[in-house]
Amino acid sequence: MQKHYWLSIFPLIVCCAVASGATERFEFEELHMGVPVRIILYAPTSEIASKAAQDAFAAFYSLNKIMSDYDSDSELSQLCATGGSDQVSEDLFVVLRAAKHYSMISDGAFDVTVGPMVRLWRRSRRQRELPKELYVEQAKELVGNHLWELNECTRSVRLLKTGMQFDLGAIAKGYAIDKAFEIIQKHGISSQLVDAGGDFRVGSPPPGAEGWKIDKGGEIVLMKETAMATSGGKFQFVEIAGVRYTHIIDPTTGYGMTELQTVYLTAPTAMEADALATAVFVLGKEKGMALIAKLPNVSVEIVLPEKKVSKETE
Ligand code: ADP
Ligand code: MG
Repeated sequence: MQKHYWLSIFPLIVCCAVASGATERFEFEELHMGVPVRIILYAPTSEIASKAAQDAFAAFYSLNKIMSDYDSDSELSQLCATGGSDQVSEDLFVVLRAAKHYSMISDGAFDVTVGPMVRLWRRSRRQRELPKELYVEQAKELVGNHLWELNECTRSVRLLKTGMQFDLGAIAKGYAIDKAFEIIQKHGISSQLVDAGGDFRVGSPPPGAEGWKIDKGGEIVLMKETAMATSGGKFQFVEIAGVRYTHIIDPTTGYGMTELQTVYLTAPTAMEADALATAVFVLGKEKGMALIAKLPNVSVEIVLPEKKVSKETE
């Protein structure tokens, strides 16, 4: 009897300690997926905080092993090399299923088959010259949402043309942020921020605060229980003959986009924010805003070099 009493009162004591503000701020940082991943969380002890962060970073590590297109041993690279048909991991399937969806709703502006075009862009960046038109035309033959299929029953993916290359650079980071966020939540932590290279997801606000202070292009905003991704050509571009070609590709032309806008996309999950930010970047202001207007709980702000446009949806 006595034992039962203590068992039931123990979680209550912990809850009270947390509720009365007896949590401390902890911050961790590691490099994953080519970007600094920063985790800030409020936890009752450093042991709980460290374990949660460690597990979250481990998720980034293992998801990169699955989804990297730089690593020829990754599950993604193997899938492209074989053309598919075997069962893929659940994580990869979830991301590819989402990718197909975002491609469909964005009329192909977001397209994870852009791999061959991304390779041409990377070569351009190294050589500082545009790819030959012939190569761009060849790449175009291998890009398109209609060129691959998902099989829900067998959890498999089939690529319909040899030479196709998936590139999850605009969605995998968001998915990893969500995974890390959920892992930290499972450690009983609700007040947390997971930031990967500027894309992030936040939980409930720090104790006593209205929200997390976020620097949005120089403007400080308060955010809670949401995710935000930024897509822009400010940092990753190659300049050839006075024109900047960003690392975000227009699948219809095969070249990097030349716009200099920055897209801030807010959505309930980081994966959605990540993919949609890229989609809106490619679609441009008018079509991008029209897409976002149709989606619940998603808002976008597009900062053009000269002016700012924003639209919120409920
Ligand atoms: P960042 O990597 O700066 O967060 P994004 O989320 O927009 O920016 O992702 C850009 C990356 O996505 C590119 O480096 C490339 O790997 C991939 N990519 C480029 N163009 C597209 C596109 N049209 N659709 C989907 N992925 C793309
Ligand atoms: Mg993105």
